[in-house]
Amino acid sequence: MTNKMPRSKVLITRGDIPSAGLSLLQEQCDLIVWNETTPIPRSELLSKIVDVDGVFCLLTDKIDEEILSAAGSQLKVIATMSVGLDHLDLNAIKSRNIHVGYTPDILTDATSELAVALLLSTSRRIIEAEHALRAGKWTSWSPLWMCGPGLAGSTVGIVGLGRIGTRVAEYLKPFRVEKILYTSRNEKAAAKTFNGIRVSLNDLLSQSDFIIVTIAMTPETRGMFDRDAFKKMKKNAIFINVSRGEIVDQFALIEALKSKSIRAAGLDVMTPEPIPLDHELLKLDNCVLLPHIGSASTEVREKMAIMTANNILAVINGKPESMPASLNL
Ligand code: NAP
Repeated sequence: MTNKMPRSKVLITRGDIPSAGLSLLQEQCDLIVWNETTPIPRSELLSKIVDVDGVFCLLTDKIDEEILSAAGSQLKVIATMSVGLDHLDLNAIKSRNIHVGYTPDILTDATSELAVALLLSTSRRIIEAEHALRAGKWTSWSPLWMCGPGLAGSTVGIVGLGRIGTRVAEYLKPFRVEKILYTSRNEKAAAKTFNGIRVSLNDLLSQSDFIIVTIAMTPETRGMFDRDAFKKMKKNAIFINVSRGEIVDQFALIEALKSKSIRAAGLDVMTPEPIPLDHELLKLDNCVLLPHIGSASTEVREKMAIMTANNILAVINGKPESMPASLNL
């Protein structure tokens, strides 16, 4: 009689994961799938996670002490199909010696590309202008109609010069910006390629024409863009956030946009997500809102699913050192 090793159990928290990632896991594991295209409700997560060895999750799934306790001590790996980790209670995960996989680098180009698209849509009023055309408001070529500030000769400030912040700066340099400022806890060698200047947050806020937020969301950075921060910005400042909505005190942002103490904002992230259609932000002409699509290129999403699956498989096969991207907890 042969004793077959039981297959590992993996929970997948969404039904529309790119199939390339899913089939990798299917070959080796028994999958428990929340087969919907909407986030798994907390009660379902609490019940479906019981006894699994690995979890394939998304940024919409809050993994905290309660969820980990429900899972049980056999849980070995949590792999998130994201680079952002703010939905994971890393201290609780660390205390249980669970491995964490994530998807850095492969989404850097796509997210940076989107940040530049959002910046230009906001500064050059692209979406507003297209809506005006469709609404029959284009009466003639007009010298002042739909004008906005250009990038050439401007000062750009990048808050958090990580992978995405650095790439955004590289992408913007050919637009002939005059100066690129950045904040970081330490000097970044990569900033030399675009003559980036490290400054304090206060200096960045008061000197930049365009402020682009690419910093990670942590307890220290939550709410860093508050009323005071918006007050320090130039009156013509354009504020772009592709990080996480919670970095911004949204009431303070709305106040700044309404009172025109800054010129405009472009947001790929906000609170809550999805944003209710009657939300104050949607009533503002000087705010461009996108539905958190930073990494939404077809190829990138496929790579993210494959990397997430391989992060799980490495641990399940007893080789955590082979995880394509593990977090050093
Ligand atoms: P990264 O390379 O880790 O960069 C994160 C930056 O945050 C680093 O510059 C780091 O600063 C800074 N930082 C981290 N903790 C900090 C703290 N406690 N205080 C001050 N600064 C801190 O990450 P990335 O790949 O560029 O991604 C950045 C963020 O973008 C992610 O965390 C995610 O939330 C967001 N994101 C959004 C989308 C989207 O769809 N919109 C897509 C991908 C990522 P130092 O330079 O000081 O080390």
